[in-house]
Amino acid sequence: MNAAVPAVLLLGGTGEARRLAEQLVQEFPGTRIISSLAGRTTEPAPLAGELRRGGFGGPDGLERYLRELRPVAVIDATHPFAAIISRNAATAAAAAQVPRLVLARPPWRPQQGDRWIEVGDAAGAAAALAPFGKRVWLTVGATDLPAFAALADRWFLVRRVEPPDAPLPLARSALMLARGPFRLEDEQRLIDDHRIDALVCRASGGAATAPKLEAARQAGLPVIMIRRPPAPAGAAVESLAAAVNWLRPHLRP
Ligand code: NAP
Repeated sequence: MNAAVPAVLLLGGTGEARRLAEQLVQEFPGTRIISSLAGRTTEPAPLAGELRRGGFGGPDGLERYLRELRPVAVIDATHPFAAIISRNAATAAAAAQVPRLVLARPPWRPQQGDRWIEVGDAAGAAAALAPFGKRVWLTVGATDLPAFAALADRWFLVRRVEPPDAPLPLARSALMLARGPFRLEDEQRLIDDHRIDALVCRASGGAATAPKLEAARQAGLPVIMIRRPPAPAGAAVESLAAAVNWLRPHLRP
């Protein structure tokens, strides 16, 4: 039995999740829209609806949370590279018998002029750099950085949203703090100013960080693209509108 006021648990931490929370609050008045953030960002942007922060304590903790809340659905709108929480959500939602949807932004597709080399992980990206790049722009996750530590003859530009907890594990590097969306002209200037000759990035998809790919294409740079981790099986959509439509029948009286 769902509680008298229906609830939706929205696993967030992305711009898409923030925009979806806004839409759900508008579309479904009288429903609790509860966004969940891991709590990594010190000052998250304001969110529509309710907010909870911090981990659940693994799949068992999330299952307990779902059994207590009894939401009509869980929408996993986390980042495509946040693989652990997505896996936990799949396991916990199945165990607690709560319908689950994945909202994942559409992947990028290579275009004419792109020089992409697709690899499976950060170690593969470091290996793929062998023939390229003395000055490499790294837009990867903090946990990916150690994979590049052995490349002591390269200089790396590392762009991150939040300041790292520890010094970068790279012999020669510069750290830049910035939050997207990014503009093409800024990405072009960054490539010029730092004399970048290769880009390493994750296949995150979405518009906010796509201009770096266009800048790399125009500069003729090789792009080492780390593939997405596989998403857990189940219902999945790529747009906010499709997520709203999926949810609608779950909220019918
Ligand atoms: P992750 O590796 O998949 O998850 C690690 C742990 O963090 C999970 O086991 C869970 O802890 C907790 N967690 C993650 N997302 C959560 C959420 N939305 N609500 C509550 N707990 C959450 O995750 P991650 O890659 O560190 O990403 C953390 C958050 O940052 C996610 O919300 C993601 O959408 C956002 N984000 C990630 C990236 C990225 O590059 N990975 C980029 C942009 C934004 P428990 O096991 O204790 O439940």
